[in-house]
Amino acid sequence: MIFSPLPNTPLITQGFGQNPATYAPFGYLGHNGIDFGVPEGTMIYAPHDGIATVKDEGASNYGLSLVIDDGKRRSLLAHLSETSVTNGQTIYQGDPVARSGKSGMATGPHLHWTFKLLSNGVVQNKANGYDGAIDVSEFTRLWLDQDLHFNAQYTDDAKPYLAMTFSDQQYLKNPARHTA
Ligand SMILES: [Zn+2]
Repeated sequence: MIFSPLPNTPLITQGFGQNPATYAPFGYLGHNGIDFGVPEGTMIYAPHDGIATVKDEGASNYGLSLVIDDGKRRSLLAHLSETSVTNGQTIYQGDPVARSGKSGMATGPHLHWTFKLLSNGVVQNKANGYDGAIDVSEFTRLWLDQDLHFNAQYTDDAKPYLAMTFSDQQYLKNPARHTA
């Protein structure tokens, strides 16, 4: 199970698979994640457990980014303004891990989230046109009242996630972490 990296119902400013021409040079069929339009400094929470990898690409690409990987799931959270975790740190779902920003190639403040499913540490469905990235709006549609994007392909591993249900406004395993 994965949860939203953001509380409440942030606006999706760029959906999965949108703007094919922009992403063709990167080898993608379209946008390989979802963008949430949130003000700079918005707290971001770990969508799932994993080990942290922090990367700072300065003004290029994803800018300051955080990857969380537990061998089954990998999230990339990009264009951050700061992160409170370090390389190799173990992160638990719902931990506050970073603050949003507009670092790297970003036209304005937003959080970019790429999500991939892995099997024994290997990204699944890498030939789907998005290097294995999948459309998390399917997972999050019950807490985000947003249009869905149906042009992603799903692995069999994704199907249990697609069938799961969220309770209203549920986005954290441990809400107490939100008050930290
Ligand atoms: Zn994006």
